[in-house]
Amino acid sequence: MNGMKKGIGAREALGLLKKGNDRYVRENARGDTGPERRLETARNGQAPFAAVICCSDSRSIPEAVFACGIGDLFVIRVAGNVIDDHQLGSVEYAADHLGVRLVVVLGHTHCGAVEAAIHHDPDGYVKTITDEVLRSIGNETDPLRAACLNAEGSVRRIEESLGIRKHESEDGLAVLPAVLDIETGRVRFLKEL
Ligand SMILES: [Zn+2]
Repeated sequence: MNGMKKGIGAREALGLLKKGNDRYVRENARGDTGPERRLETARNGQAPFAAVICCSDSRSIPEAVFACGIGDLFVIRVAGNVIDDHQLGSVEYAADHLGVRLVVVLGHTHCGAVEAAIHHDPDGYVKTITDEVLRSIGNETDPLRAACLNAEGSVRRIEESLGIRKHESEDGLAVLPAVLDIETGRVRFLKEL
C-alpha cells in the first residue's frame, strides 16, 4: 500500500456508519440516491468514506443499513464475506486510489454460507467458500458465534495480506469486523478503534 490518497479518517468514518445505522434502525432513514447526487458524483468522481465487504445475501444491504446513498460506500460483495485475491485487490484500490481509511467486514445472522460450512461439505465452487469459512470458524457450531469468527477471520486475512499500517499512523488503514442482525437491522461492531 503506497502513495495512498487522503480521505476522511477511520474514526470519523466509523462515526458516520454508526450514526447511519442508528438512523436506519430508528427511523428507517435512507441515503441520498436522487438525481442531483447522481449527477454530482458522475461529474466529480467518487470519494466513498468507507469500504464494506459483505455477504451476497439479499437481506444484507450495506447501503441501506448504514443509510448511505450514491458515492458513500465502496462495497465488495461475496457469499460468506470471504477474502481472496480479488477482494484484496478491491480493498487496495479503495485505499490507494479513493482515499478510504476504514474497511468493515460485515457478516450477518442467518448466514447460509456459515451454516453450510458448519453442517455440510458442499461440492463445486461453493466448497471454495465454505472451506474459507471453516478456516475462520474452526469447530464452532453456534451460527452467531461462527458468523463473528468468520468476519474476524476475514479481517485478519486482509491485515496480514496487505501489510496494513495501523490506524494510529497517519496513513494507516483500519479494518474492523461487524455483524448485522437481519431481524433488527442493527450492526454490532466486534472491535472498536
Ligand atoms: Zn451470508
